[in-house]
Amino acid sequence: MKINHIEHIGIAVKSIEESRKFWEGVLGLTCYNIEEVPDQKVRTAFFMIGQTKIELLESTDPEGTIAKFIEKKGEGVHHIAYSVDDAVSALQEMDAKGVQLIDKTPRKGAEGLNIAFLHPRSTAGILTELCEHPKH
Ligand code: ZN
Repeated sequence: MKINHIEHIGIAVKSIEESRKFWEGVLGLTCYNIEEVPDQKVRTAFFMIGQTKIELLESTDPEGTIAKFIEKKGEGVHHIAYSVDDAVSALQEMDAKGVQLIDKTPRKGAEGLNIAFLHPRSTAGILTELCEHPKH
């Protein structure tokens, strides 16, 4: 598996409307996309920094994983996502290396990416996402 770059950093927030005041007002970044991912019970807001995005994650459901994460740990970094060329073979390689997979096969994430999560138990405590840009 070759990691191309950090695709995005996912940050759990209580409110995108509140948090974007920091990202836009203080850091001067531009939110270029807000998208709901019903599958993951989140609303996401994206900011581009070089080729890496900041992905703000706001829960749309009090029972959702982001709501539960904030309940336990408060707002903050939720996961790091790496860009890979082939998510299926990357997952196979991680599986073969004994990494605990949350997703056995990639699924559709925000912005049409094929994504899969690795369990933080196997990834030095950091929830890790592999992202593949779908080929055209
Ligand atoms: Zn993500």
